[in-house]
This record gives sequence, C-alpha cells and structure tokens, in this order.
Amino acid sequence: MYSPDDVRRWDAEHVWHPFTQMQEYLASEPLVVVRGEGNYLIDDTGRRLFDGTSALWCNLLGHRVPEIDEAVAEQLSRFAHTTLLGTTHPGVAALARRLVEIAPPGLNHVFFSDNGATAVEAALKIAFQYRLLTRGKEAAAEAVYLSLENAYHGDTLGAAAVGGVELFHDIFKPILLPSLKTPSPYCYRCPIGKTPGNCSIDCADELEQALARAGGRVCAVILEPGVQASAGMLTLPPGFLARTAEACRKHGALLILDEVATGFGRTGTMFACQRERVTPDLLCVAKGLTGGYLPAAATLATDRIYQAFLGRYEEYRHFFHGHTYTGNALGCAAALATIGLLSDGTIVGDVERKARVLSDALEPLAAHPRVGDIRQAGLMCGIELVADRATKAPFAPGERTGYHICLSLRDRGIFLRPLGDVIVLMPPLSSTDAELQHLAASVGAAIVERLGA
Ligand code: PMP
Repeated sequence: MYSPDDVRRWDAEHVWHPFTQMQEYLASEPLVVVRGEGNYLIDDTGRRLFDGTSALWCNLLGHRVPEIDEAVAEQLSRFAHTTLLGTTHPGVAALARRLVEIAPPGLNHVFFSDNGATAVEAALKIAFQYRLLTRGKEAAAEAVYLSLENAYHGDTLGAAAVGGVELFHDIFKPILLPSLKTPSPYCYRCPIGKTPGNCSIDCADELEQALARAGGRVCAVILEPGVQASAGMLTLPPGFLARTAEACRKHGALLILDEVATGFGRTGTMFACQRERVTPDLLCVAKGLTGGYLPAAATLATDRIYQAFLGRYEEYRHFFHGHTYTGNALGCAAALATIGLLSDGTIVGDVERKARVLSDALEPLAAHPRVGDIRQAGLMCGIELVADRATKAPFAPGERTGYHICLSLRDRGIFLRPLGDVIVLMPPLSSTDAELQHLAASVGAAIVERLGA
C-alpha cells in the first residue's frame, strides 16, 4: 500500500477536487479515507467517522454490504463491462425489468447512463426529440424547457441550463441554453412574498401561468419532486407536484422528474413522486441506484415516448445518444442487489419512523437563535443557519460558518458537508436510531460551540 505521507503529497500536488476551493483545501488537514465499514468511514489515522452525507447522497445501506459485495464479485468473475450499443447482457435486462416494477406504473422503458447529470441530459434530449418526432421541425425549433429557481440537475451544460442555483449556475449563463424559470417553493424565504397562513401553493399557479404564457413552446418541465436538495434541502409543499403534473398535461408539456437524490427510499417512499401518485413521462435515477457502489444511472420513459422513436432505420427516428459505460455490468449487479435488499419494503418502510427519531432529536435546536429553519423529508434534512433570526439575514460568506461547523464535527466522529450555511444531514437508510440521535446531538453541540447557546 502507499504510505500516508505519499498519498497526502500526491493529493495536494495533483488532485483537483470538485466543488472545492483548492486554496482553502490545501491549507486544511485532508480526510484520507482508507476503509468503509457499515455507516462509518475509517481514515488513515484510524479515526472512525459516521458518514452523515451518505457519500454525497448515494450510499444507501452502508459500506461492505455482503449482498452487494458478493453480487459485484460474482459479476466480476464473468466480465466487468461490455457495450450496450446493439448487444445486451443478463444483468442489464434484469435490472431494467426490476426498475420498471418498482417505478410508478407506465414507465416501461429504461435508458441507461452513468450518473445523475447524464440521466438528466438523456431525459432533456429525449423530450426534445420526442417533440421533433411528434410535432415536426417548426415546433421543435421553438421548444424550451421550464424549470424551477433553485433547481439542481447536475453540472453538464444541458443539466446546468435547467438549474437555478445562483452560486453554481450564474457563472456559466453565457454558455447555457436559454430556459424558462418559475419560482421555487422555498417557503422559508418565499420568492412571491407568501406566508404559510396566506398561501395555497401559489408558486404552483406561477408555474402554470408560465406554461400558459409560453403558448405551447415548453417541451418539458423538469423538477426534483419532494425536495430541492442541492439548494439546501428545500422541501416542496404537498400538492405542488400533483398540480404541476396536471398543468403539464393541460399545456402539452412533458414532465421530467429528477429523483437522483430522492429516489430509493430517501423520503420514505421508493420514489418521492409516489407520495402524490404522479407518474412522470420521464424519470431520472442515479446515486442510490447502486447503493452508492458504482456510477450507474437510468432514465425511464413511458410507452408513448418510446414508441415515438420507432421506425425503419432510414427514417432516423432512433435516439441519437449514448455513453461508453452505459449499462455497465458491475453497476447493474450492484443495483440489482441493492433493489433486492429494498424490495421487501422493510428498509424503506422504516424511513418515516427513523425520520421522526431524527426530527425529535433535532427538536431542541429549533429554538437556537442562529437556526432559521429546519427542513426535513424522510432522511433528507437541512438546517439553515442565519446571522439574525428576525430578519433572516445570512452570515457573510467569508465567515464560512457552515464549513467550520462541519469541520469541527470530525472531532465528534461525524463527517458532514454543508451547502453554504445549510447543514445538510443525509444519513444512510441503514443508520440506527442511536446513530441518528448522536448525529443530531453532535450537530447541536457543534453549532453551540461555534455560534454560542
Ligand atoms: N440531480 C439531482 C437532484 C442531484 O441532487 C444531483 C447530484 N447532487 C444530480 C442530478 C447530478 O448527479 P451527478 O452528480 O451524479 O451527476
């Protein structure tokens, strides 16, 4: 094995970390993970850290899960990868069938890719080509997407174009495809000035009005059902999704749901859209699909969409899109084992109870003078810290409040990564009650340590 000193030196000299100010990173002590055990990361000094980020939201059931390890090893003993361009293999066929079984009814066709952003790219391009195939060149030429402010769908250019997180997306605006935006259901800082007392999900009306104003040009609406995760765990009010689905039907726009973060039980149902009995036209999944083991993703489509792409070869109706590692056999094995572990419903069925354990344990924090809002859907939770509770004024970005709190949590045996000054808790579904309580108590203690009682 490599020596810890070499690893640290090579990392500092050569690795460019994502979403990381490297100047700050290089001045800090790196966390060098050498092993994973259940819900814990073990670093090169032997320290054990509970991973409250689920490896950035993808690890569902912890590390070294025997069933997933064995499934991947078994597949590895046959082959690791072969192309899906014109060939198939048992794992990908079985996985497609299982995904169709657990997804909302009607999503019978599965297009595989590598990660969340590519699942979204595929959905956006399918929606566009569907419009071209069903309505012709003129309608396609004026097609636009409609998405929400504060949305996050990934970092490739297409996915970023339908994103709406100012900090991530504004820099790239000049090179992004124009897309229409509608207000986000950010109830704590309502963009249309409503309060819970005088609101009947008016932002859903705004969305419908935007669709009406576009006069049929919107080929697809895309959103994260349940929670706008990367914006700071903004929980959508119940009813928003069903009303959006209805508005899409009325105005002839396809509905793309991005369940990259919310899928596979995170919010207490297999998919967040099932809570409102909504079947989208296209559904994007990634992250938890493989239990957080391997990069694999899928875009599910209805019969209506899939059939529009059928025709004789020379009609060129087929979907002109694909990635080298599409349908990777190791990823399929990990995904099948993960879905197998979830399929009797016990783990997902226990998420709501565990979510209550977490929210009860966080309850004392709600009164803290620097805690503006605590938002939670299942085991996805965001604690928004503010400099002033009365005015909701944020801390100055240079104070790095969320960052320092998360850094100090490492001394309490916890790994977390904030989104600005929102402390994000997204523990694995395999977390025990005691781990969730320890997580909440440690976050509370770290907040008090940094910001006072
Ligand atoms: N969509 C959503 C809702 C996400 O949360 C993310 C990742 N945080 C993505 C898409 C992009 O996924 P990936 O990082 O795998 O490209």
